[in-house]
Amino acid sequence: MSHTPLPTSTLPSYLQADKLGPWGIYLQQIDRVEPYLGHLARWVDTLRRPKRALIVDVPIQLDNGTIHHFEGYRVQHNTSRGPGKGGVRFHQDVTLSEVMALAAWMSVKNAAVNVPYGGAKGGIRVDPKTLSMGELERMTRRYTSEIGIIIGPTKDIPAPDVNTNEQIMAWMMDTYSMNEGATATGVVTGKPVDLGGSLGRRDATGRGVFTVGVEAAQRIGLDVASARIAVQGFGNVGGVAGRLFAEAGARVVAVQDHGGAIFREAGLDVPALLVHVGKAGSVAGFAHAEAIARDAFWDVDCDILIPAALEQQITETNASRIKAKMIIEGANGPTTPAADDILHERNILVLPDVIANAGGVTVSYFEWVQDFSSYFWSEDEINARLVRIMKEAFAAIWQVAQDNKVSLRTATFIVACKRILHARELRGLYP
Ligand code: GLU
Repeated sequence: MSHTPLPTSTLPSYLQADKLGPWGIYLQQIDRVEPYLGHLARWVDTLRRPKRALIVDVPIQLDNGTIHHFEGYRVQHNTSRGPGKGGVRFHQDVTLSEVMALAAWMSVKNAAVNVPYGGAKGGIRVDPKTLSMGELERMTRRYTSEIGIIIGPTKDIPAPDVNTNEQIMAWMMDTYSMNEGATATGVVTGKPVDLGGSLGRRDATGRGVFTVGVEAAQRIGLDVASARIAVQGFGNVGGVAGRLFAEAGARVVAVQDHGGAIFREAGLDVPALLVHVGKAGSVAGFAHAEAIARDAFWDVDCDILIPAALEQQITETNASRIKAKMIIEGANGPTTPAADDILHERNILVLPDVIANAGGVTVSYFEWVQDFSSYFWSEDEINARLVRIMKEAFAAIWQVAQDNKVSLRTATFIVACKRILHARELRGLYP
């Protein structure tokens, strides 16, 4: 009996849409790693689609008595190496394809630092600044209940991301626990320390950014203690990284965020700026600095640039203006592939998101382990373990980049995708 061969599996249309958005960027990154996967390339299409994507309606009653429907998502990109893991983002621009990309980058990131997780991400399309505290809590709880059918301490573990914090994790943990009838601290990470959270989690992403930054600087002969730093986004990632670089003697000369951009040649007073951002919600209006146009930020003379805000900030239109010797991606997906090529040609070293900002999820892993064992480590212990994992992972990736003469992004994808696809191969297809 002869069989008509099946057409090669093409991507469903919803996976092809939005080619230029974050998901399109991720697909290009997979195209770039494919030639380096050897016999595992047979499995690579696994990475070109999410395992599971859930869209949920999140209706709540607003304070004014009307009913409002938000759209929420939870995407599990891959679970070959362990449960899904990744943050939840509340932002007015969140879309399904963006969450798919963020989930996929979590798969790569978790494999890059070798924590035993797959990749997942969630989000709600909302500007949380427009909500009262009560509305924010109701929305968070309803969203958690809706995604409750696919999350859980051994299935998929959410965490903070853009515009979500410890309080939101506490509400998520409580909602899931109420539905389960048992307190399940391990269902989310990034919780308050008094509720099963881990010491050191809040600073972990910024600490990881700083750690790989110092490692890379040593390798290219850049002196951190005399470096000029420019930071985009001064929240949980950029703020902490900026503080740690300043403590190491570097000068943070420029910061840009959603509200504006500021500059000070002699270096900004970072602790004072953090206090200002805590009150004002933005760097704009900081008294001890010169206000500059938001776009002028990209022209600032600096040695290290840290994009720590959102995706697609460094593009072909501004990549040629950047003066830094090194870029450390605190954000997820801040650089487009076209910009990557320009930076590579200009000999600007890019430390990619999938290793540079992996410190957060690494300490999330510590938090989850501590929750399971109900035994908690000291902050020094956490930081020491974090630094060790980041340094070892970075050294291995650096070597792969040298051996294959590829960018650090492609090198990180080589290491991570091989781990994921090797696990996939060992598990085999079911049925
Ligand atoms: N949202 C963070 C990230 O993008 C942390 C995720 C986590 O801790 O699970 O890596």
